[in-house]
Amino acid sequence: MSSFDYDLFVIGAGSGGVRAARIASGHGAKVAVAEEYRVGGTCVIRGCVPKKLLVYAGRFHGEFEDAKGFGWSFGSDSEPTFSWPDLIANKDREIDRLEKAYRGNLERAKVEVIATRATMTGPHQIHLASGDRTVTARHILVATGGWPVMPPIPGIAHAISSNEAFHLPQLPKSIVVVGGGYIAVEFAGIFNGLGVDTTLVYRGEKILRGFDEDLRDDLMAAMRQRGVTIITGATPSAIHSVSAAPDAQQLRIELSNHTQIEAGQIMYATGRAPNTKNLGLETAGVRLGEKSQILVDPNGRTNVAHIYAVGDVTDRVNLTPVAIREGHAFADSVFGNKPWTVDHSLVPTGVFSEPEIGTVGLSEADARTTHGSVDIYKTRFRPMKYTLSGREERMLMKLVVAADSGRVVGCHILGPDAAEMVQMAAIAMRMGATKADFDQTMALHPSAAEELVTLRDKWVPPAIAAE
Ligand code: FAD
Repeated sequence: MSSFDYDLFVIGAGSGGVRAARIASGHGAKVAVAEEYRVGGTCVIRGCVPKKLLVYAGRFHGEFEDAKGFGWSFGSDSEPTFSWPDLIANKDREIDRLEKAYRGNLERAKVEVIATRATMTGPHQIHLASGDRTVTARHILVATGGWPVMPPIPGIAHAISSNEAFHLPQLPKSIVVVGGGYIAVEFAGIFNGLGVDTTLVYRGEKILRGFDEDLRDDLMAAMRQRGVTIITGATPSAIHSVSAAPDAQQLRIELSNHTQIEAGQIMYATGRAPNTKNLGLETAGVRLGEKSQILVDPNGRTNVAHIYAVGDVTDRVNLTPVAIREGHAFADSVFGNKPWTVDHSLVPTGVFSEPEIGTVGLSEADARTTHGSVDIYKTRFRPMKYTLSGREERMLMKLVVAADSGRVVGCHILGPDAAEMVQMAAIAMRMGATKADFDQTMALHPSAAEELVTLRDKWVPPAIAAE
């Protein structure tokens, strides 16, 4: 007989926590999960899913423009119109449906779902705010995710994060998005697509730090061409309210380069921090890293043997499929007698910017550091759809190949459906595919993806090519 109330107590019903709870319960453990907000966590409630729905909404604008080249017209008095409240209401309905589905899956798996904030009050003790009671568990899994960081500049209270962007009562006429990571560029694309006058402000010289340089350059150029104003090398120093009328809010943001911009909204997307504050981790003796992330070994185990952590709270690869897999590995290893660990290499990633990015493996720069000699194959071309629509945008496809083994170690795509293509390329790369394997694969015509298997010539830097 267990002397604990539960075999496993999970704090946080997001991507990692839900998967871990369901799988552990399936292995016969008595499991409870505490959630202080909504079941599904960031991805379902205010991350990947609602974001992608908004991305779809923003893309119609370009589709309407492109349609004209294919013979479509909308008549002189029937220009398409857009309703932000309708979009948000429809999005909310879908999120409600998904939350119910997640909750149902947990209940069917016989996991007890407790709607409360949970904190640790001892190595095996968890305090539940609702009902002010304490329970005990043999194992504890911390899966509390992350939270947007808002810098302490004057007037920051006027700004929103991505959390609030999903619930704006009305679409602003203009917006300043601060940040250069994937969330910032995605929201800049969404608002620009919905007709909002959009400015992106980033402190570095190029957006999307850590991504392949060609992707960074080409996306920045394409976003500018699509109408987003991008200001780099500038940091906001203060935000002022110019008009406080709730239905006509106007804000002014001051930048370190002595410029000022007025906009109806200011959204910060400058980073997220692990949710480790006031969780009682110190009481339980759990060690944290420099960014307040929970330090874990490859099995997700903390320095306290029976306390584990998965997902964004460990700040490793902060993506939903990674958190899910980490939760699954934890549950199989601890409760299913089937130990395995998650391989964090070759994780495919999409950036749902306009145009879209799909990327997997090493950037050219990282590959040169890791592999020394690399061969680069790349092409920029106009997707077929844009020939009739008249859009002047180029698609980028790039393969980074380790020269000694011939293995494809990086695949980077910018353009329509890039993320869908890269998911498939990731399978081949995971299996160790070489450039010769790509070449021997028959092309699928007509498609953009066929370029990946018809890249014949090594790319030569212009300076060398001119010699
Ligand atoms: P979460 O999903 O964040 O879940 C943590 C849960 O714990 C939350 O529900 C929270 O309410 C709860 N919680 C916290 N503290 C407590 C407590 N003390 N007691 C009880 N409950 C608590 N990833 C992708 O793969 N693709 C994307 O396209 C993508 N887009 C994103 C867009 C945005 C705007 C954001 C913000 C994130 C996006 N992500 C995306 C990242 C993805 O959402 C996260 O990597 C993923 O949700 C992490 O899962 P998790 O289980 O670690 O934490």
